[in-house]
Amino acid sequence: MYVVRLNNDGKWSVIKDGNKRASKVFDSKVEAIAYASKKAMAEDTTFRVEEKLPTSINKKIFIVILVILLIALIVLGVLIGLGKIKLPTQGNDLDDDLKEDNDTDVVIQEGELSIHFLELGNYYAGDSVYIKAGDIDILIDAGSRASSATTIHNYIKQYCTDGKLEYVIATHAHEDHISGFVGTNSNPGIFDLYECDVIIDYAFKNTSSQISKNYEAKRDKEVTLGAKHYTAKDCMEGNNGATSKYKLTESISFEILDQRYYYESSSDENNYSVCMMLNYGDNHFLFTGDLEKEGEESLVEKNKLPHCKVFKGGHHGSKTSSNEALLAAITPEVVCVCCCAGSSEYTDNVDNMFPTQDFINRVARYTNRVYVTTLAKYTIATNKEGHEYPKVNGFESMNGNIVVTLNSSLEVVVNCSNNQTVLKETEWFNSTIVLDGESRKMRTWPEGGK
Ligand SMILES: [Zn+2]
Repeated sequence: MYVVRLNNDGKWSVIKDGNKRASKVFDSKVEAIAYASKKAMAEDTTFRVEEKLPTSINKKIFIVILVILLIALIVLGVLIGLGKIKLPTQGNDLDDDLKEDNDTDVVIQEGELSIHFLELGNYYAGDSVYIKAGDIDILIDAGSRASSATTIHNYIKQYCTDGKLEYVIATHAHEDHISGFVGTNSNPGIFDLYECDVIIDYAFKNTSSQISKNYEAKRDKEVTLGAKHYTAKDCMEGNNGATSKYKLTESISFEILDQRYYYESSSDENNYSVCMMLNYGDNHFLFTGDLEKEGEESLVEKNKLPHCKVFKGGHHGSKTSSNEALLAAITPEVVCVCCCAGSSEYTDNVDNMFPTQDFINRVARYTNRVYVTTLAKYTIATNKEGHEYPKVNGFESMNGNIVVTLNSSLEVVVNCSNNQTVLKETEWFNSTIVLDGESRKMRTWPEGGK
């Protein structure tokens, strides 16, 4: 019996059974087999071929594979570290509805967050924004008049079914933001209707109005019932257990943003507005109450403001808010305005009625997705100076209640209770009004606007 065997040096030996040394060594396997075959035939025996790699070669190959694997692991680690490769989050590759956020590893789930800009049931400007984040209910401001509480309650009770608002924010002490918290005997207020866990409000006020006193009395009563109360200043300074950041769900949080008028006085009550950023992964939603220009500028200075998916139009679309410094920082995609469009509540100058022409001129550079809750009905009246103006005498829905959500592609989806028409396409915006014999467009979209 002969054995043809591959050697450590890659050559082929032909070894006679029982011998330790090879009879002959060949470079090629074919030659070795030919030789072994010839020898075996001559001696009337057989031969076999052993192709098993010698141990030392196996070791070499093993080491090479190990080194390649190690290099591959290091490269993978570096790519993950640089964010070039994402590891799948649990379950998200199984569900098309889930989408991973690009920057923060947060999973966006459709329906987890909805933001509702509410109609208030009258023709007065006023704010109330309801936010549903998972099971958490948040109310920012509560409308223009005591009766707004009923309007708000009738709407949010379909979402908030446990009678508890985990967070309440009262941005500043003006009637059009706090009236609904208080209510009246015939119209129970939000504080009467809901248990409130955390109440965050203004650090200062100038007004000594009865409504602000009533608000504070009701707020303090909530505190005796177990609510926590922090001012925006407390949140920034961490006083009394307050914090600036509040986690709502695994993916959603909000933070109170810093601005100078939490610490110093302003002649304008609006500047005391509590400012809040809602964060859903890397998607941001900004609420600044009625903050005015100087306040907005300090907001830009004191915070690293990100691009915002949605911005609640500052101060009901006033010409004095939503200024360029703020808009340039947040570059909003969608702007929702809580106001009664074209109401003469504060002015008989058509351009300055909410949402003002100046506001539209500035916002138009960033987006045409502007929505407005309510629309004024009017008749032509004459002011003290003898000029005609549209005098508000009723209201109807413009977009109505504006509901904002994100879809799985991280796009802002806007659903409104009345219609989905963006401001620049509305009948009101494009209507012509004749005043003192001259006709004018109610609003114009600036050239170069979106
Ligand atoms: Zn206001």
